[in-house]
This record gives sequence, structure tokens and C-alpha cells, in this order.
Amino acid sequence: MARVNCPNCLAKATVTSREKQSDHVVHLYCSCNNTKACGATFRICQSFDHFLNPPVTNTTEMAAALLKQLPRQAQLDLLNSC
Ligand SMILES: [Zn+2]
Repeated sequence: MARVNCPNCLAKATVTSREKQSDHVVHLYCSCNNTKACGATFRICQSFDHFLNPPVTNTTEMAAALLKQLPRQAQLDLLNSC
């Protein structure tokens, strides 16, 4: 888990609870550790953005789907060249 900082004083904060909104979105409820000068509590919305590299299973499925569209001999030629 990434470090969380208070948006008010920028001190470290503690995630006190998390609430799943969907498979790719989570709300993190946080409390600022700078209790003497700040003490804010706040919520962070954490969400998935996009893949930098597709998961291996996706890559394999994509390769298989593309391979199936080629004529049989082209499939064999391609596999033999790897
Ligand atoms: Zn703070």
C-alpha cells in the first residue's frame, strides 16, 4: 500500500478503514498522524487506471486468437520461426 499523506498538513496519515465501491474502486478512510497541529480525517478514492502491460493470460489469449485467424501453414511457419 502506498504511503498516505494528509492533504492539509502533508504529514503521514493512517488508513483506518477501507470501503470497496467496485472491483476497481476503493475508498480509504484516513486519519492524520499530526494530531497536535492538524488531526484531520479524510477519504481518499483509490481507483484502477489502466494496465501498463497486459496480464500474461490476456497476452496468451490475444496471441491464440490472432494465430487462429491465419491459414494452417502460416500458423506452422510462424510457430517454427519462434
Ligand atoms: Zn494533517
